[in-house]
Parts: sequence; C-alpha cells; structure tokens
Amino acid sequence: MIPPVVVVGGGLAGIATALRLQAADVQVVLVESRRKLGGRATSFVDPRDGATLDNCQHVVMGCCTHLLDLYERLGVAHLIQWHPTIHWANPPGDPDAITPGWCPSPGHFAGSFLRARFLSGGAKRAVAQAMWKIIRLGREGRHQWRGRPFSDFLSGVKQPREAIEKFWDPVVTSACNLPSASVDAFHALLVFQQGFLQDAWSPVMGLASVPLIALYDPAIEMLESGGGSLRLGESVLGLNFDGRRVTGVVTDEGSIDCSSVVCAVPPDRLAKLCSATMTAADTRLTHLGEVAFSPILGVHLFFDQAVLATPHLVLPGRATHWLFDKGVDSDGRHHVHAVVSAAYEWMDLDEPEIVRRVMEDIAWALPGTRGLVPSAARAVKEKRATFACTPGIDAIRPTASRDGIRGGIENLFLAGDWCATGWPATMEGAVRSGDMAAAALLGNEFKACDVPAAPLARLLGL
Ligand SMILES: Cc1cc2nc3c(=O)[nH]c(=O)nc-3n(C[C@H](O)[C@H](O)[C@H](O)COP(=O)(O)OP(=O)(O)OC[C@H]3O[C@@H](n4cnc5c(N)ncnc54)[C@H](O)[C@@H]3O)c2cc1C
Repeated sequence: MIPPVVVVGGGLAGIATALRLQAADVQVVLVESRRKLGGRATSFVDPRDGATLDNCQHVVMGCCTHLLDLYERLGVAHLIQWHPTIHWANPPGDPDAITPGWCPSPGHFAGSFLRARFLSGGAKRAVAQAMWKIIRLGREGRHQWRGRPFSDFLSGVKQPREAIEKFWDPVVTSACNLPSASVDAFHALLVFQQGFLQDAWSPVMGLASVPLIALYDPAIEMLESGGGSLRLGESVLGLNFDGRRVTGVVTDEGSIDCSSVVCAVPPDRLAKLCSATMTAADTRLTHLGEVAFSPILGVHLFFDQAVLATPHLVLPGRATHWLFDKGVDSDGRHHVHAVVSAAYEWMDLDEPEIVRRVMEDIAWALPGTRGLVPSAARAVKEKRATFACTPGIDAIRPTASRDGIRGGIENLFLAGDWCATGWPATMEGAVRSGDMAAAALLGNEFKACDVPAAPLARLLGL
C-alpha cells in the first residue's frame, strides 16, 4: 500500500493543500499541533470570561480569489459580509466614505476621494498624481521596483508628509504589515495596482460574520468523510530523511510513514524540523533563518454603549490603524476591535497602557467618546504575525517544489504565506501556496485565478 501524503500544519495553507489533494483521491494525513484548525487566522476562548474571540480581525478582499474559492468549497462563503464603502475618520466631522462610484476603473474611487476631507486639497492632488504613475507603471513596471523600499517610489513622485502619514502608510501598513519606509515597493505597488485600481470589485472588503474558527468546521468533516485523517493536538518533531527522500515524520505520538510531505508551517518552525543533511540537500531550506517577522496587535474592547456609528473606521495618521464594530455579544456588551499593524513599539507595553493608548485614538476619532472606559479589554499580541515583507524578501521565499532548482528533495513540498506566491503575508497568499503545493505534488501546472482588470484599466497597463 502506498503510504499517505503527510501535511504538516493546519493553517490555511495546510487546509488548502489537504483539500486539493483529497479531491484528487490522494490519501492525506493532516497533522496540526494545536487542537484546532486555522493557525494564525483563528479564534480562541478567553480564559478570563469564556468568550470566543478571534486572535485578530481578518480582512479579505474581492481580489482574494483562491481564499474565496476555498470558502466556497467549504460552504462558508455566505458567512462573509461585504463592505464596499471604507470609512475614514475625519474628526470633528463625520467620517469620509470612500466608495466605488460610476467612473470606470481605474477611476472608480475618484469621486469619493475628491470629496473626502481627511486630506487637504494639496495632499489629494499629490496622491492622484502618484496613482496615475502607479497605473502607467503597469504590471511589468512594478518589477523594476523589487528590492527597494516603497518610500523611494513615494519620494520619486514627490509625496508630501501629510499624504504619506494619512494615506499611503495606513493603506500599505494594513495590507503588508510594514510602513512605506520598510516595505518592498513591489508588494506595495501590487496592493494598489491589483488590490485597488484594476477593477471595482477587488478592493471590496469582506469580514467574517462568525468567529474565524467556525469557517473551518466543514474542513474537518470534508477531510474525515473523504478518507483522510486529521490529527489535531499532535506536533511534528522531525522528518525522516534517507539522504534522497523524506520517508516519514516523527511526532510526539509516534511516527507516520509518508510518500511525500507538505510542510505548511512558518519558516522558523520548518527550520526545527529539518536536519543539517536535509538543509544541505535542498537550497529552499538554506534561508529559513533569514526570514524576519512583523508584529500585529489586536485589542478587544467591550463597552456598555455603542461606540462606532459605522461598521469600521480607518484612523489616518494615528498609531491605531483600524476599529471594527463586532456587534453586541450575548452579555449585551458592545464589542469593538482595534488593530495596530507593524506594532513593533507596542510589544513591550502592558495591557492597561495598550488600552489607554487605543482609547486616546478612539477619543481622537470620535470626540463624543472622550472619557468612555471599556468594561473589559483583551489585548492580543502576535509578535510573529507575518513575515516582514522587506526589500529583497522575494529572493529568499522558497518555491513549493524543487522544480527549477538544482538538486533538492524530490518529495518535500513547501507551503505557507511566506513561500513564493508573489503575494504579501495574507490569507490569500497562504491558500495560494497550498494550491501551488498540491498542484506541484500532483504534477499539475498551477494556474493563478486572478480577477481580470476592467477594460480601461487593462488598456492603461494594469
Ligand atoms: C494578528 C494577525 C492579523 C492578521 N490579519 C490579516 C488580515 O486582515 N488579512 C489577511 O489576509 N491576513 C491577515 N493575517 C495573516 C494571515 O493570518 C496569515 O497570512 C495566514 O493565516 C497564514 O496561514 P499559514 O497556513 O501560512 O500559516 P499558519 O496560520 O501559521 O499555520 C501554520 C500551522 O502549523 C502549525 N504547526 C506549526 N508547527 C507545527 C508542527 N511542528 N507540527 C504540527 N503543526 C505545526 C501551527 O500550529 C499552525 O496552525 C493576520 C495575521 C495575524 C497574526
């Protein structure tokens, strides 16, 4: 009997890989060290009050085609609520609503952006000129910016400090988890070209209407009813390597023979599974220690009264980037979730100080809430939230299979948001990596399924 394929890691990359393989009648064993699926994009039970909370708000966009396809196959796509309008705080006035209008793409945001007041007229003109440059750069042109910080591009197109602080940095930091000064320009340009400009559907924001963990329940059933095996709460400790192939995985509960292994774990975890012999045999493993991480802070706040008048709010120029209205919980508490991306400076703060700072930003955005005190709060620090998408990172992101490299371990496949997908660290990147790993293992060509650019946008180079 042919041994199964072992998939290590039950985050989105591992789930995507396992389901693709199972659909191709490959016997799969998915091993996940935690007792639940979802990895970084999941929920936990707060031991203080038993509430189920997401480790952080996770945003999906219309352009996340592979993730949305996975949600469809899991039967949970209807649990995503779509928000075409993004609300930007503009105190003391009402928030500005940035929403696609009647102008053909890439001009769909032009009307609401011109009407917005969170930026001065001069800053808006500068942003519009830079957007035109980004459009005319075209998809090919963005490659020439690979390996340089996005701030180089912004200074080349003469962006004033106000535009950087209140527009470019909030968008880029939210999407890539690094500000313009430290993010690879290629990825920032990809966000604007493919995420915001090429058509009006791609930038539409989706939020799960249920705790994230509920999105993965059908995956458990699909795997188990399809003959696969799911081993939750079991950690892989190492890979058995015979000098040519991986023959099995060693776990804290025994060992599993395998025909192939797909490692869908972050690079620091993968490094712990690979012996020096394996690393010497496969150049995809040589840079694992060089991948740096960027933190995200999520703060759950509970109030006795409603706080937000909009479903979410961007706080331009503030340390807190986003507020999300999570509705009223079963105890009647109004739940607000605050997110700080690239939260390096927040990692050493204690919870009371974190809450004080976030409340200061909330009072700035919504002056009517000044003096309000949350009845409960829970700060969730994720120090290794995403790989740091710094200039040059793509040179060390590994491919799913050894194809195209010299040597390499034939039956070792890699997946995870940090692999070479062309995407920044996102749920979409994780699912794409899983789809790529499964295609490579099955000997199929991977075909990215991107949203097509609108006709005028395509004509202009997007
Ligand atoms: C706070 C925060 C906010 C974010 N916000 C967004 C957002 O708004 N939008 C977005 O698109 N993305 C967001 N992301 C990024 C997104 O969560 C990740 O890109 C994605 O979930 C990564 O999936 P993955 O499968 O590659 O890795 P992971 O989710 O890390 O999965 C790896 C899995 O492997 C398991 N594992 C590790 N070692 C072993 C072992 N030895 N044996 C067995 N199992 C093991 C881990 O327990 C984990 O479950 C956010 C991330 C964080 C942390």
